[in-house]
Amino acid sequence: MSLNRLFWLISILLMLLFLVLTGRIVSSEWSVYERSTKSMPAIKNLQLALLVEEKLAAERGPGHSLLMQEADAAASELAGLEQARSASDQALAALRHAVQAVPSLAAQAAATELALAAARKEIDLLLSLPKRQRHMAAVDAALETMAGVDSGFAPVIATLSDIAVRSDAQLSDGLEAALLASSLRNIAGRIGAVFTAPVIVQRPLTSQEIHAFLKLSGQVEQLYSGIELQLRPYRDRPALQGALDEVRDRYLGASLGFLDELFANGRSSGNYDLSGREMVIRYMPGMAAIPQLRDLVLAEMLQQAKDKNRRAAFFLLAAAGLGLIALAIFILLAQVIRQRVLRPILDATNLFVSLTGERFDTAIPIPRHDDEIGAMMRAIHVLKAHSLAKVGLEKQREEMIAQLQTLSDTDFLTGLLNRRAFFAQGEQQFGIAQRYRRQLTLILMDVDHFKAVNDRHGHHAGDQVLRVVADLCRRHHRKVDLLARYGGEEFLLMLPEIDMSQGFAVAEKLRGAIDACHILLDDGAMLNVTASFGVVAFESDEDLESLIRRADQALYQAKHSGRNTVVATPKGKQDETIAFA
Ligand code: GH3
Ligand code: MG
Ligand code: MG
Repeated sequence: MSLNRLFWLISILLMLLFLVLTGRIVSSEWSVYERSTKSMPAIKNLQLALLVEEKLAAERGPGHSLLMQEADAAASELAGLEQARSASDQALAALRHAVQAVPSLAAQAAATELALAAARKEIDLLLSLPKRQRHMAAVDAALETMAGVDSGFAPVIATLSDIAVRSDAQLSDGLEAALLASSLRNIAGRIGAVFTAPVIVQRPLTSQEIHAFLKLSGQVEQLYSGIELQLRPYRDRPALQGALDEVRDRYLGASLGFLDELFANGRSSGNYDLSGREMVIRYMPGMAAIPQLRDLVLAEMLQQAKDKNRRAAFFLLAAAGLGLIALAIFILLAQVIRQRVLRPILDATNLFVSLTGERFDTAIPIPRHDDEIGAMMRAIHVLKAHSLAKVGLEKQREEMIAQLQTLSDTDFLTGLLNRRAFFAQGEQQFGIAQRYRRQLTLILMDVDHFKAVNDRHGHHAGDQVLRVVADLCRRHHRKVDLLARYGGEEFLLMLPEIDMSQGFAVAEKLRGAIDACHILLDDGAMLNVTASFGVVAFESDEDLESLIRRADQALYQAKHSGRNTVVATPKGKQDETIAFA
């Protein structure tokens, strides 16, 4: 796998890993935020429901009291009932409005309103009658119907507290304390109601009333302990502890103490020494401490939910922000690595491959940074210069070797092959003729009376003549033929694929050309030379030296035949010599 691909693969894998991790963190922060966002309205709704419960209980008191009195009871008490009813209505309307998005809860709230209206109708019907016409059973039934509204409403509280606890389990202790406080408020109402009829009528308590008082006061103790227990985690909240103490002192101490006194009277004489209204005035203020505690606890829970929500929002934003910053840094880093490390390395690799392949046209990037990669690029520049120099030197060397080769193979005077090169190259041609039994003819030529030219015209003129003769030979040989200066004024021609008669013809043509040639010497004299030729054809089982020897013999015959002659001699058949002059 290429480095580039590997880089992209690792980058993508790292990026995915990073995105998954960031996604997990952000999603977990989001769920904390979402839950805390939900818990705030849940607490508010629960508070509204508990308020409804309280107001319903509060409404029972004046109703109960009025039922025990004549129809023309004090207008102030009737006004009190109306006030309590309107408070219940307001609380219910507020709850209904708050839970309108949850159809089941809205329906339950509406059902409570209907049940309440029916219960009120029952009470109003009884209140419209003179007291003596009100049957005790009917009064009890009306009070029971009113209590039924409460129990019908209980599932709404259960559902809302369940929603609130589920939205944040950490709030469960506080919410449980608030619910217990609400129950305590309820029980407080009911325990007070035990005395409503006896006090108004000024009669002793019945055995059921005694039993109810004892049972309810036992429940009050239990509920208070329960609240205390649930609020233990909030010991460090002085406001909550203060409200709890208030309940203990004002309700459990004062109000319940007051009821204990009434209870003692109720069990004995039934003479309470106070009116129903006075009882309410003494008993009720202590009760108010209970909803105060409840509301304080709920306010504390709401504050906790708000703090949590704010913290969650902060962490969510921080996680998302840091995630984005880290992602940007990661992308930047990948880009920097790609631009400043990977790409230069790939470029460098290409450059090295080009340099090793002796391709110098690939441009070397100019280093833009004073870093290790820049140093590498500068080093490649130097390497390229060295490689170029080396290649140039090698080329020069090869050219020189070729020149030397040519010089060592060439006769300096005529430019023809020298004797050594003739043997080197001639052996090759000869070997081919031997191996494949091909024809090959050898011509040995010697300038006639050349000594006399030297003697008469000087050595320089002799050289000139040799060069002219060499040129004539050059003109009469094919590319495949080998032409060499064999010795002083002797020349050798090797003609592959040429038989004796053809070779003879070539020699004859050359002889004629030399004979016909007039050489103008540098001193102005005109000179004419001739040459003699010995022609032999290659026969099997014969080596080159033997062939040259036979050519020499033929040449010797040509000299003896009067020179300016071609003598061709087949092997072992000197008598069949062909000669031409
Ligand atoms: P023949 O017809 O029998 O061949 O007589 P010839 O004079 O040509 O032969 P000989 O062997 O007697 O003389 C050859 C001469 O060639 C002798 C030598 O000085 C001369 N010679 C050899 N090499 C050169 C050379 O390179 N330049 C010159 N100018 N003369 C050379
Ligand atoms: Mg000679
Ligand atoms: Mg000669």
